[in-house]
Amino acid sequence: MTVVDTLIHARWIIPVEPESVTYEHHTLVVDNGRIVDLLPTELAKQQYRGTTTENLENHALLPGLINSHTHAAMTLMRGIADDLHLMDWLENHIWPLEQKWVNEAFVKDGSDLAIAEMIRGGTTCFNDMYFFPEITAAQANHHGIRACVGLIVTDLPTVWAENCEAYIEKGLAVHDRLRHHPLISTPFAPHAPYTVSDEPLQKIKTLADELELPIHIHVHETLHEIEQQQEKTGQRPLQRLYDLGLIDPSFIAVHMTQLTDDEIARFAESGAHIVHCPESNLKLASGFCPVAKCIAAGINVALGTDGAASNNDLDMFGEMRTAALLGKAIAGDPSAIPAMTALRMATINGAKALGLENEIGSLSIGKAADVIAVDLSHLETQPVYCPVSQIVYAASRQQVTDVWVAGKRLLKQRHLTTINDDELRLKVAEWRQRLAG
Ligand SMILES: [Zn+2]
Repeated sequence: MTVVDTLIHARWIIPVEPESVTYEHHTLVVDNGRIVDLLPTELAKQQYRGTTTENLENHALLPGLINSHTHAAMTLMRGIADDLHLMDWLENHIWPLEQKWVNEAFVKDGSDLAIAEMIRGGTTCFNDMYFFPEITAAQANHHGIRACVGLIVTDLPTVWAENCEAYIEKGLAVHDRLRHHPLISTPFAPHAPYTVSDEPLQKIKTLADELELPIHIHVHETLHEIEQQQEKTGQRPLQRLYDLGLIDPSFIAVHMTQLTDDEIARFAESGAHIVHCPESNLKLASGFCPVAKCIAAGINVALGTDGAASNNDLDMFGEMRTAALLGKAIAGDPSAIPAMTALRMATINGAKALGLENEIGSLSIGKAADVIAVDLSHLETQPVYCPVSQIVYAASRQQVTDVWVAGKRLLKQRHLTTINDDELRLKVAEWRQRLAG
């Protein structure tokens, strides 16, 4: 008998890799924060004894979901300005509110609200882009969730930094402090081609290569953005990013709703990644990322919610379903984006985009134990012919009962173990009072 930290006996285990495999009546064996075995429950009971043992008789175990693009702190602006065009929404609502209110306390409380929502919805890793990244990192660390906190850069002065040089300098200091952190990484996060000029983009590329960091940026979010840039520079933004040498396997392009067939082919060759944010794109009527075409061309497509100010939730279950349904509609083909593909976009593809595929994204022996349990006994997900189908097309995030990150339990039978809901609710109510003015 080998003694280990945790044994999770489950009705179904969907490891995501190998693809299209679902194990029944299997056990995930976790020790020192890692998955050390995955085997039939009968055998596990003979070979292992767990300090903690979970019997999840109605549940599917999956790798924790990876939200590959969000702005966690913006959750405090959920529902404050809806039903507007992107530039109107940004220039007349979000940016002025940010100028007035964003500070350390805003980012701390907003990150807490986002982290609570994400854990309760089965997200175990998020790729963030916002001001005061060190505060978001500190809150992620405090609550035990995995995070990539983007080192944001924009030409626009904010309370976080007054110019591009200051953004880069402050970002580097954050990177330096966190570079050996087991749960936090720090990609560069220049906001968008239309908010960051050539010089800082080149500098970011040089630094990203030196430090081996990914570059995470909004690209081709709307037609308007492209027309404006073409007028200004004569080029489509993507072409400008090629000219600046940014596009390679460490490049993460968020949105990409405006793509020609040639751009798709060239992007596929580069080995760069796309993060698809279907609900934010739908809500802002930004356009449609041709996901089926991109995947067929060989591009790794991950999934993100974007911020709660433009979604308006951080629900990766909803995002998977929307990605699958919208992908079919755009391709004019119901066989496009099958359920398993949507689940891969929310797990292993996210891990690949973030350079974390050796650590997370599947329930594979040796990887970190970032695991979620989904109770499929609810009437809304009965009967279960195919657990992956239920998870993508029928389940809600409220069916996530338990969440572990690196073996640590962050959600226990729907209760957050590292966040006090009542205190958080009070803090958020105070912000609501201030922002509503
Ligand atoms: Zn965004």
